[in-house]
Amino acid sequence: LMQLSIPLNFIGFVYREIRQGLTDIEQMFDLLEVQPEVVDCPGAPPLAIERGAIRFDNVHFAYDADRPILKGVSFEVPAGKTVAVVGPSGAGKSTLSRLLYRFYDAQSGSITIDGQDVRQVTQKSLRAVIGMVPQDTVLFNDTIAYNIRYGRIGASEAEVEQAADIAQIGGFIRALPKGFSAMVGERGLKLSGGEKQRVAIARTILKSPPILILDEATSALDTRTEQEIQAALDIVSKDRTTLVIAHRLSTVIHADEIIVLRDGVIAERGNHAALIAAGGLYASMWNRQREATQAEEHLKQVVEND
Ligand code: ATP
Repeated sequence: LMQLSIPLNFIGFVYREIRQGLTDIEQMFDLLEVQPEVVDCPGAPPLAIERGAIRFDNVHFAYDADRPILKGVSFEVPAGKTVAVVGPSGAGKSTLSRLLYRFYDAQSGSITIDGQDVRQVTQKSLRAVIGMVPQDTVLFNDTIAYNIRYGRIGASEAEVEQAADIAQIGGFIRALPKGFSAMVGERGLKLSGGEKQRVAIARTILKSPPILILDEATSALDTRTEQEIQAALDIVSKDRTTLVIAHRLSTVIHADEIIVLRDGVIAERGNHAALIAAGGLYASMWNRQREATQAEEHLKQVVEND
């Protein structure tokens, strides 16, 4: 107890010192960039998952009160379906996934899973049913096997390897001198963005959650890596409710619905064919990306023929 009380006293001392110098505690939070914590409601029940239907209903959200990010967003991801969110950088796409995972709470409106408001259930039960593949996966300074097994601590070696194979990263790992025992992370082997994302997918395959959030990396991937990741995702998202924050055409085209977010509101929605036919923002984004891909392919051919 003594060991604990000394640092606590010290923190109290520092806090009082800071407090004296500031008139407003919120100002201190601003300075320290500390988020007011999201907490469970007293007596909150666990989420009772059925088929994992997600619904955003008139959601408003701002990180800072004077700068609204989401301005009344409503959409559904029916159980087992895939919805992709696209739109210009900064439109608020990743914010949707952070609210669903409850890193933050919406200021108004609601987000429900199978009819239960995510704010009314325990965070533990909420996060247990969601598999999150973030833009940039942080790996532990441990073996690659440990990093994959983190999805389900009790998984056997064979299950870890099988998950890696489904995630299209098994061959890469076996080719390493230490294979699945290779150390990764800050002090180990540095993996590329695409490799890290596949480790995260393998982790999620072991976790086998009913709901999947995939926040694609913005960085460009070469065509082969993109195809490998897409193949892994097709397997993992099959029959799961999937929300994709999409930057790549390959993930968007097959989505059951595409939501085009611009300046915090839904500007367009529909499937790929309908949005192309509409000739709006999505169609112009798509044409621009296709031109970029074609230019890249052309350049590669020129280099290869040299
Ligand atoms: P991108 O395609 O570039 O990833 P996005 O549409 O996913 O963009 P978000 O990450 O949802 O955009 O961010 C929306 C806006 O909110 C941005 O302007 C961003 O600067 C701001 N923002 C994001 N996180 C925070 C935060 N923790 N505090 C304050 N503002 C934030």
